[in-house]
Parts: sequence; structure tokens; C-alpha cells
Amino acid sequence: MHKHIRPQPGIMDIALYRGGSSKIAGRDDVVKLSSNENPFGAGDLARQAYARAGHDLHRYPPTDHANLRAALAGHFGLDATRIICGAGSDEIISFLCQAYAGPGDEVLYSQHGFLMYRISALAAGATPVVAAERDRTTDVDALLAAVSERTRLVFIANPNNPTGTMIPLEDVARLAKGLPKQALLVLDGAYAEYAEGYDGGAALVDTRQNVVMTRTFSKLFGLGGLRVGWGYGPQHVIDVLNRVRGPFNLSNVQLDVAEAALGDAAHIARSLSENARLRDWLAEKLNALGVATDLSLANFVLARFRDAEQAAACNAALMAEGLIVRQVESYGLPHALRITVGDESACRRVAHVIGAFMETQR
Ligand SMILES: *Cc1c(COP(=O)(O)O)cnc(C)c1O
Repeated sequence: MHKHIRPQPGIMDIALYRGGSSKIAGRDDVVKLSSNENPFGAGDLARQAYARAGHDLHRYPPTDHANLRAALAGHFGLDATRIICGAGSDEIISFLCQAYAGPGDEVLYSQHGFLMYRISALAAGATPVVAAERDRTTDVDALLAAVSERTRLVFIANPNNPTGTMIPLEDVARLAKGLPKQALLVLDGAYAEYAEGYDGGAALVDTRQNVVMTRTFSKLFGLGGLRVGWGYGPQHVIDVLNRVRGPFNLSNVQLDVAEAALGDAAHIARSLSENARLRDWLAEKLNALGVATDLSLANFVLARFRDAEQAAACNAALMAEGLIVRQVESYGLPHALRITVGDESACRRVAHVIGAFMETQR
């Protein structure tokens, strides 16, 4: 750090976020299963919209995102006036911390929660606070026990990354109800679409003044590289976040392609059904090989090994075969590997390599 020119307190405590790796030196046949991306990529309608968007690159985008908000409202049955769009849901998380948490305030999240909660809290000068989980699952009682008069934001991802587990809506509602008056609950629904019958907490947002939901186009919709996410909240929160948001935070390309992706029912249906089928197949295979997993409601499975050493050795075995998965020691899970559900051939390769690896461990 420079002797005199110094950043705000907290900034230098931020450990840089490391995305899932995508390369292995000397190999061109790698399969990337480290960032929970849709193995089928973006759908045809999104790709076509992307090509069309090239004609308007000289035009400034709209500042109100009206078309995308209307499309989201129609698709998910929400009130368009209470939707805000951002450059990934990461940007919505960052707006929330910037707007509601500062020095002396606490931002609470669960033990194996998404790394961006801590990063955004520190960037805002706030103090991150961690509540324990029970069996790698969000523990509402532990969260409620960890709140204080300084708690301003509480983040939970449901289903959670990197565990894949989720808690029922009754528990989420109990958490919202039990929070102190000044605290806002943020329901990160990055994987909500994968959990059948789950609305991400949208109905809860509609009935409460202290709940916000964040969602993304990066996972199911296959647009991680495009950077589009959104939030849904009470009017008073959306009014605040819109003041923090830059007027041109999303480009025409982002807006148009995201809207097209939302209308691609065939791609959505195929992505969902293949994910459910292959996720359950992979989890069963791993369990049969002696590798434990929790029931995942997302597009990845968390494979647990005997210890950190065995997890690292299995990771090396996968790498040697061109398969890149995610080591999750930064999430407090050094004995586990998070494996994105790929297409059928990728899942078979993963099961095969882990099977051979486990043979060497007897
Ligand atoms: C992937 C992910 C996000 C989405 O991030 P984007 O910025 O929308 O790409 C948000 N929360 C969790 C828990 C995630 O795993």
C-alpha cells in the first residue's frame, strides 16, 4: 500500500475473487466445469439477438431498462416497477452494500456463502459477519443469533453455492420475520430456476418490506459472459438502488440479448431437464463410488472427500484428463470439489475419472 495515498478502510482486506479456471497448459480438449455455466451455452434466440445488436453500437442504451423489466415481469409474474437490472447480480449485490452498509455496520451471511457478499461488504467499509451452517445448509437460528443492532444486510443464497442445498420457504419467511427493523434480507436466487416450483422468494418480497431477491442470466440462461442480473424488491429499496445505479450500466447488447433469452422456451426447457437428469445421475454415481454429496437443487454437485489431501489428489486426476472443476477451500470446504453438471459426455468422463481415482484410494 502507498504511504500517503490510501484507500478507504476495508478495501485492502479484500482477497481478489478468482473465477473458475478454464485452461490447462498444453491441452485443447478441456471441459470447464468450474463456473456453473450452462453446458449448452446461450440459446439460439440469444445468439440471433446478439448478432442483430451489432447494428446499434453507436446508440446509447435506454436508462430505464423498460423492455427487459417488462419481459421479466411477464415471464415471472412480477411488478415491473419493482425490478432493477444490473451488470450481473454481482452488481445488484454491490448496490445493496453501497446503499445500506458502511463503516460500523454489519453484513451477515452464512458460513459457506457466496464470496461476493464479503467482498462487497468490505468494499462499502462495512464489517462482514459469518453465521455457522448446519450440515452445509443455511441455519436460520444461527443467522438470527448472529444479528445485532448493527446488522444492515443479511445475504443467503437459496439454493446455495457451493453447497447446492436449500432451505424451505417457511424457514426463509421465519428469517425475514425475525430480523431487527433496520435489517434487509437479500435472497440470492442465482440458481432459483433449477429448484422446481420455487419462486426465488418473489412472493415473500411482495408481502414484506424487508426482503429483496437477486437473480441472474448467468446460469440457466447461459449468459455468464454477457453480465446481466436483476433484483426484485419493495418500492422503497428499488428507489434507493436506482440512485446508486449508473444510468447506462447495461448496454443495448446486454438488454436485447437477455430479453431474447427469456423468450427461448425450448432452450430453457432443455437446459432444465438435462440438468436435472444428469445432476441426479452424477450424484448417484459418486455416492456409489464412496464420494458423498448433499442433495443439490442447482446445476452443480459438491463432492466430499476424506480430507483436503484426497480432494486435491482427485482434482489433479481430473485435471490430468482435461476436466476442470472447482476447489472450494476459499469457501471453507477444503475437502470438497464443486463440479458443474456438464453435458452427458462430460458427466460420464467425470464419473469415469473419479471412479478410477477412488480405486487407487483403497
Ligand atoms: C453465479 C452466482 C451469482 C451470479 O453472479 P452474476 O454476477 O449474476 O454472474 C450470484 N450469486 C451466486 C451465489 C452465484 O453462484
